[in-house]
Amino acid sequence: MDIFPQSLKGHRVQLGADVEDGEVHWEPVRSLWFSAMALGASVGGALTFSWSAFALFVVTTAFVLLCGHSLGMHRKLIHDSFQCPKWLEYFLVYCGVLVGLSGPLGLLRTHDLRDYAQRQKACHDFFGHRRAPLVDACWQLHCELRLSRPPEILVEARVAADPVYRFLQKTWMLQQLPWALMFFAIGGWGWVFWGVCARVTAGVFGHWLIGYFAHRHGDQAHIVGGASVQGYNVPFAALLTMGECWHNNHHAFPGSAKLGLYKGEWDPGWWMLLALQRIGLAWNLKTPADLPVREELRYVRAVPGVNAGCGQA
Ligand SMILES: [Zn+2]
Ligand SMILES: [Zn+2]
Repeated sequence: MDIFPQSLKGHRVQLGADVEDGEVHWEPVRSLWFSAMALGASVGGALTFSWSAFALFVVTTAFVLLCGHSLGMHRKLIHDSFQCPKWLEYFLVYCGVLVGLSGPLGLLRTHDLRDYAQRQKACHDFFGHRRAPLVDACWQLHCELRLSRPPEILVEARVAADPVYRFLQKTWMLQQLPWALMFFAIGGWGWVFWGVCARVTAGVFGHWLIGYFAHRHGDQAHIVGGASVQGYNVPFAALLTMGECWHNNHHAFPGSAKLGLYKGEWDPGWWMLLALQRIGLAWNLKTPADLPVREELRYVRAVPGVNAGCGQA
């Protein structure tokens, strides 16, 4: 019998990679970047607070998380779960770069390696967020995992050969600079600390925090058979994460553009895609019904109208 499910065969990480044996090391660029932003946000932000700077933080954070991280980076670049004009794809991915996590290629590789590792029977604790919260925060925000035998990750030419994405990858930190200068010219240091430092800190820290909860606690509608790490839904974060918190659904249907699948699962990213579809700027929005059936997927609980007739776990 084949040891790998069909769904892993098209994965960018090449089959058979060892994702268990490795060591966690301090990663200076990631660590200093996050620390500098957090320092600017906490000290600079406290000293220069104004309601206009706070409003700038809220609006820009919501915008880059919704259009950039959720739509541009995750649902489009990584999963290609909907189609849109190329100029819009570039814009959305550029907004994703402004979140401050990484460049497009770096984020895609990190996402895919983690995704691949979580679907294996065993993987390093780093991939499963298995350690205590403080250790995991230190690992994910300041360190990197160096695998003993790093796997090959084949990124398709659509992304890897694209000059815009290569440029954004090389300059992802610098992309904050024009905005910092503009915010400084309009609102002084307060706008820089809140519009750049606090926004990047909230995006990067929030990404870790939700990632931690989404692999540790919460509601489950599905189980991915054979996977050492399962995803969980984190309902209280639906609006804050633009729908990315429905992570159990995402583990079950990674290629779906719709993350909030069931009643009451608010998904602002999906609402935005529907709005773009209505004005002709997005099409071929994939839902679980458009994806190949996964034999390894089991339903934990009956979901009316969705899994009638499917096997129960
Ligand atoms: Zn996951
Ligand atoms: Zn994903």
